[in-house]
Amino acid sequence: MTHYTLGALLYEGKAKRVFATDQSDLVAVEYKDDATAFNALKKAQLAGKGELNCQISARLFELLERDGIPTHYLELQEPNWMLVRPVTIVPVEVVIRNTAFGSLCKQMPIEPGTPLDPPLLDLYYKDDAFGDPLLTDARLERLGVLTLAQRQELERLAVAVNASLRRFFDGIGLQLVDFKIELGFTADGTLVVADEISPDTCRLWDQQVSDASDRILDKDRFRQDLGGVVEAYGEVLKRVQGACHAPRSGK
Ligand code: UDP
Repeated sequence: MTHYTLGALLYEGKAKRVFATDQSDLVAVEYKDDATAFNALKKAQLAGKGELNCQISARLFELLERDGIPTHYLELQEPNWMLVRPVTIVPVEVVIRNTAFGSLCKQMPIEPGTPLDPPLLDLYYKDDAFGDPLLTDARLERLGVLTLAQRQELERLAVAVNASLRRFFDGIGLQLVDFKIELGFTADGTLVVADEISPDTCRLWDQQVSDASDRILDKDRFRQDLGGVVEAYGEVLKRVQGACHAPRSGK
């Protein structure tokens, strides 16, 4: 059990709050019930969402760890709180797509649902004021936030995350359509997977359901006003729980 005292609010994002603790190598993350989409143009409170995403993320971070992928995650605390290592987030969102959907099909002549083999890896500049634009190699170089070796490591980790998550979700009857991850540098300069991994950041389709709307178990239920958002996330957690040990817990 980790003893710590909560300190100042360091950062508040759309779905989480990050707090300092009295220990410099620990920060606490609170998962909120706020739901946002379309660069926060659409907002709602979904009771229970924060806890579901926290519980799903904790188990998925532990899965990645077991597969040798470093993450910021340390342990669960309260149902919607986890302790993580402090990191400096790289302002680049990494998206891997196994199946074409979402923005890709609005920007390219690719039918939604088309399998992508090999998976497509896209990098976006993480900045809401600019609407998280797609990065080119030249723009990434111009940004100057990653050396070539760091960029290669970031992409290597993202590909490893895809392999790990895809295998896991396939085993619980869920198709991992695509996902976004964020990575950060720890104090010693190690690049680790950070932020969260949940139905807010992954597209997950129920493999047993053929209906194109009914099979959606992720944030597209909120984006598309399909209803049943919390119920869908609950179904994801139920399946994840069935395939994982209880996560490390400080309580
Ligand atoms: N995604 C995310 N945060 C973002 C943008 C995308 O978590 O700011 C996730 C999204 O949930 C999906 C994947 O990244 O799983 C690919 O999203 P896409 O580029 O298709 O954008 P969207 O259609 O969601 O606008």
